[in-house]
Amino acid sequence: MSLECLFNITEISQMSLIKAELMEILVCPADKGDLKELESERKLECSVCGRRYPVKNGIPVMLIDEAKAKTPSSENDKQQQQQEQDGR
Ligand SMILES: [Zn+2]
Repeated sequence: MSLECLFNITEISQMSLIKAELMEILVCPADKGDLKELESERKLECSVCGRRYPVKNGIPVMLIDEAKAKTPSSENDKQQQQQEQDGR
């Protein structure tokens, strides 16, 4: 009953942050956008809104509050295509 058993799981998935199966069903909770892995930062970045969700011990933390979009210092992020209709 040791916590170390849980942490060993992360060592198995060194190739990617999370399982591919999990990756397929994960979407941004804010806008259902696709997520891509930022392996060096251990985060998942939404391709739509740019929020970054931390991955802790192989488990993505899909909380909008924690995924504050990186403050655009020099980049203009006004190119979001929010007018696209959701496909029925
Ligand atoms: Zn998003």
